Amino acid sequence: MPPALTVTFAGSGDAFGSGGRHQACIHLRPAEGSPVLLDCGATSLTALKQLELDPGEIAAVFISHLHGDHFGGLPFLILDGQFSRRTAPLEVVGPPGTARRLADTMECLFPGSSTAARRFGVTVTELAPGAVVTAGGTTARAWAADHPSGAPALILRLTLAGKTIAYTGDTAWTSAIASAAADADLLIAEAYYRDKDIPYHLRLADLDAHRDRLTPRRVIITHMSADVLGGDTPSFEQARDGLIVGL
Ligand SMILES: [Zn+2]
Ligand SMILES: [Zn+2]
Repeated sequence: MPPALTVTFAGSGDAFGSGGRHQACIHLRPAEGSPVLLDCGATSLTALKQLELDPGEIAAVFISHLHGDHFGGLPFLILDGQFSRRTAPLEVVGPPGTARRLADTMECLFPGSSTAARRFGVTVTELAPGAVVTAGGTTARAWAADHPSGAPALILRLTLAGKTIAYTGDTAWTSAIASAAADADLLIAEAYYRDKDIPYHLRLADLDAHRDRLTPRRVIITHMSADVLGGDTPSFEQARDGLIVGL
């Protein structure tokens, strides 16, 4: 029997291509219904096609925050739909400011693209910390992350196909991570550095220090720099591009 939910790490890297990895993009496919994405970094369209995951099937994209390695792939995803004659609507859910930043980014990269006629609708729903929305058969709840990005950054908890996934996005440690991950089937956590003192990001040292407060069934770390990729992480499972997890 197939899993209720198949999680594919299309991109498990940081913003700077560490380890030759793609930027943040996690593909969630329920056994029944359309897949959704969790983050869509600038390299995500290439990452999806490398794994033969059809971008045209994606019903919704949930964006943790408005940095290019987390939302910069949206213009490419939307234009790919336009040129492949997509007709199914696409829902984008992101923090307050997403609609404006997405339009600005599309105009910067492909002038005229933000207002081009398309066969499919793109709707943007802005999700504030503390709020809940449903899109693409998925319920998303948001907490405030500690990560300046020109807009509020979110820690997300998604529920679809009866499974719950918590995702830190990029953030310094905050107790909201433990709240978002409480009894989740999977926590996907940033682990940018081991213990280097770097602001507004999670480190392995932070996850280790708060391990007792984290109660998901499974934890997979992602968004790793070369500092983390260079060695073992005995207490946490590491993502890699192409990793598939059944829930
Ligand atoms: Zn960021
Ligand atoms: Zn990032």
